[in-house]
Amino acid sequence: SFPVDYSQPGKDYGLANPGYIPAAAGAPGFAPPAADTQGPSAPPASMFDSMPGYEGTIAGGGGFLPPPMPAYPAPHPEPAPEQPQWNIPSITEDTARNAFILFAKSKCCYSSAPAKEGVITDMEAFNTYRYRLETFTESRSTEWSHEPYAGQQVDAYIQPPPGPWDLPAKTPNFFVDDKQTIKVPYTSSMKPCHNCLGMGRKPCKDCAGCGNKVCWVCNGSGYRHGADRCNHCNGRGRENCNRCFGQGSRQCDTCHGKQQLLVYIKLNVKWTNNSDAYIVDQLSGLQGENLSKVSGKELFRDTQYMVYPLVSFPDPSVVSASQHLVGDHQGKYSQTSRILQQRQIIELIPVTKVTYTWKGNSHIYFVYGNEFKVDADNYPATCCCTVM
Ligand SMILES: [Zn+2]
Ligand SMILES: [Zn+2]
Ligand SMILES: [Zn+2]
Repeated sequence: SFPVDYSQPGKDYGLANPGYIPAAAGAPGFAPPAADTQGPSAPPASMFDSMPGYEGTIAGGGGFLPPPMPAYPAPHPEPAPEQPQWNIPSITEDTARNAFILFAKSKCCYSSAPAKEGVITDMEAFNTYRYRLETFTESRSTEWSHEPYAGQQVDAYIQPPPGPWDLPAKTPNFFVDDKQTIKVPYTSSMKPCHNCLGMGRKPCKDCAGCGNKVCWVCNGSGYRHGADRCNHCNGRGRENCNRCFGQGSRQCDTCHGKQQLLVYIKLNVKWTNNSDAYIVDQLSGLQGENLSKVSGKELFRDTQYMVYPLVSFPDPSVVSASQHLVGDHQGKYSQTSRILQQRQIIELIPVTKVTYTWKGNSHIYFVYGNEFKVDADNYPATCCCTVM
């Protein structure tokens, strides 16, 4: 029979977790001191040394670190280059009709007859502008991290670590989101693993650390069919645990059995392209959100470290959108990140309202964007069978 009696409630077996039972006598088991068997837990704060310049760093990471004031004077924003005259292009009747036919064909239950046979009676331009401001930022945050110790360099306290904004990161591609993690030099130390208390192994959960379990064939009796000895367990009543191969313990998955961890501060560098757009309301009846899905003709592009808001444009609402967004971005993003580059673009988005008659009735549709996208709310033949 099994040598340890666990039937006494409340008896202290010297174990932190009641599910953990030491290996049976004679088994090649292993009994570490009390440890949490509920999987890797957060390392205790006492595991982390105090590092000058990194005092607020916690495991799991915190907020972004504000950048220091630039050591060099910020370049003065340069006025936008001379703005060209804004021509208003417009599409031809053929372009409008072809776009409309493609639109009708793309809808499975639309007849293309109105698009093909309708007579265009009017084309009106409602071309509009999109102003877009992009602010490309770099932000940095730190967190305590650890990895199994396998001979890595231990360098804490050799000298003070460089400040989080003094560490060189890679050169990012402007206006493309990216990230990088860097091990902060002079913060690495070696600590016993908190998960296995430096043992390298943890009790097996499947067999509660015994290395064996009740034989499933004889249900622990050692006998079957009366006096016949169970041949699965040879009358032992128990069988080896196949998860830990009878050892009662398994390799710690925090230190991978290395017993020690390399504990260090990790710097997370993140590059973000923050983009906002303003589209002038074109008052054509076409819903504004349609325009966010199409491109336009680029009229103006200005890329600088810090852009200067537009000072003149034929549509004054574009000027005020530029002034508002440039102020908003420069205020908002310089708090928690470093602005690396800004770009402002103005596009002309063509919008044409087409009026046509079909079977004596007048209808409208819109053709918009460089892609000649079509929107028609009241297409007159939305089911093929009614037209045939
Ligand atoms: Zn058995
Ligand atoms: Zn086991
Ligand atoms: Zn461990």
